[in-house]
Amino acid sequence: MWRATVLTLFPEMFPGPLGISLAGKALTAGVWTLDAVDIRAHATDKHHTVDDTPAGGGPGMVMKADVLARAIDAAAADDRPRLLMSPRGVPLTQAKVAALARGGGVVLVCGRYEGVDQRLIAARRLEEVSVGDYVLSGGEIAALALIDACVRLLPGVMGKEASGAEESFSTGLLEYPQYTRPAVFEGQAIPEVLTGGDHAKVRAWRQSEAERLTRERRPDLWEAYQSRRHSGARAKPANPESSRTENASGFRVRPYGAARNDDDEGSP
Ligand code: SAH
Repeated sequence: MWRATVLTLFPEMFPGPLGISLAGKALTAGVWTLDAVDIRAHATDKHHTVDDTPAGGGPGMVMKADVLARAIDAAAADDRPRLLMSPRGVPLTQAKVAALARGGGVVLVCGRYEGVDQRLIAARRLEEVSVGDYVLSGGEIAALALIDACVRLLPGVMGKEASGAEESFSTGLLEYPQYTRPAVFEGQAIPEVLTGGDHAKVRAWRQSEAERLTRERRPDLWEAYQSRRHSGARAKPANPESSRTENASGFRVRPYGAARNDDDEGSP
């Protein structure tokens, strides 16, 4: 069973949206578990203090290392990866999500205010992960996004096992456009090739549309895809190191969203 433990000041935000639809059904079915740990329960003073003013001055508050350390030690003493949701983190990718989904689960620490004491990050070896180049008011929505992306990849969660393999990012390309009935909507027909019944033509059309969309919208992904293709491999580079675009700490050297869509990260 895949286990998610979330450390948060707002446990009532969980399971939230993860309690409905695909993820919710899988939660009820016991495919995965969710444990929302209230960080405040690990404060020891009578006011249950979880934050304090920043050393060096400045606005806002910083989450205390000692309280968070106790919460982590009590709730997550196993060997699951421990991630800190953080705008300073390595941008989350589908490859990372897939690697996390293959493991035993995750421990996610949600920051609030100005973030958490740096010494806690080092002491509990938290890996900082970002869900994008924008600032949320807390890590909870980022944690919900990460868990949602992982849970839909767990065996048996998606209706059709195969539907994960072809989507945006899994192939290094954005997904082709989708259509369904009615055949004509406000004067627009479904592209003829999709209704003609020739599966080879459908495949070729989808491939060329996926390539066109990626080229137009994500030149960074397109460049990475082409360099993989030219090195003789499609989804996986012949030599993984040759197409690496992140530096030693896992950060991308190219702009946000570039490459790393090949599923070559191994287990987390
Ligand atoms: N002062 C910090 C921002 C703190 S936002 C800075 O400038 O870097 C408060 C919390 O929200 C963070 O500790 C983190 O847990 C969460 N958060 C905000 N933006 C995020 C993002 N893009 N990805 C993941 N977590 C995020």
